[in-house]
Amino acid sequence: MTSTNDKIDTLSKKIAEISIQQDIICNTNISEANNYYKTRQTSKGVNFARLEKGLLLFIYIHETTKSILYSEIALWDRRLCIQMIKNGDCPKLRNQCRYEHETSYRQSNICPFWYTHSCTYGTKCRFSHEFFPISNYHHYILTNTDNIVYKLIRFVRNFAGHYIDSAIKDENDLQQLHKEMVVLMVHLVHFLSPKRSNSIDHLNLFLEATTIKQLISPDSLLEELEKPYNVPKIFLESTLNFNTHWYRHGTNKCSVDFSQMSTQFITHFNSVFIGFYEGRLKSRGAPIAWA
Ligand SMILES: [Zn+2]
Ligand SMILES: [Zn+2]
Repeated sequence: MTSTNDKIDTLSKKIAEISIQQDIICNTNISEANNYYKTRQTSKGVNFARLEKGLLLFIYIHETTKSILYSEIALWDRRLCIQMIKNGDCPKLRNQCRYEHETSYRQSNICPFWYTHSCTYGTKCRFSHEFFPISNYHHYILTNTDNIVYKLIRFVRNFAGHYIDSAIKDENDLQQLHKEMVVLMVHLVHFLSPKRSNSIDHLNLFLEATTIKQLISPDSLLEELEKPYNVPKIFLESTLNFNTHWYRHGTNKCSVDFSQMSTQFITHFNSVFIGFYEGRLKSRGAPIAWA
């Protein structure tokens, strides 16, 4: 009896330790939009003007890259025909199949149910639950983080084109949404633009200096950007109806670790940011923000 009780005691203790450890991870290692506005008085709002320069940048970035990345994104978006992936051939004609046939990606051992998010075997499945030979076929979107980051770029671009502030009826939701948008763009610019180490010049170049000034001090900002970041899950949805009250503060989030992007993805976007600088900013006298 005693030994069973002891075992239960040890077990409960261990469980308590696990949940404490998880709390610590949540509190210190994952960052949120509000952390970036810690030093700003709550009475001072973040207005839409703070977003505009960044939104124009992301229209350019998305429009410049979408056709190059189209077929790679189709794989991650699960829009491809699984027969084409498995065998390079589909018994249905192109116009009769619900899925896209334009891909060179091949993986005969892929689990078709995993591909459509419906495999129930998990780790026991005998087919592959990851895109295995991806670098043989794709050049830019090589990790799931690349895929998520590209979806976030697409979201910012759609927001730039379709956002109607009057559709969000609650002032708290509106304020939080503006903060989320600013801090998301800060992350995207920080990780995709060329930059000098220990400097925020690239943020001031591509976003507005006033927008950056409203955030925590440059040193804290650089430190905070090193942590994985929680984005609202709704930002990852491919179709959003901007005519509805689509965003609410306190909505579900998912953590993105920007350090998990592939070098290929970053290099590609570095050149797009340089293109934007050369074409739009340099002639206006904006100083370069990298070596
Ligand atoms: Zn097909
Ligand atoms: Zn499976």
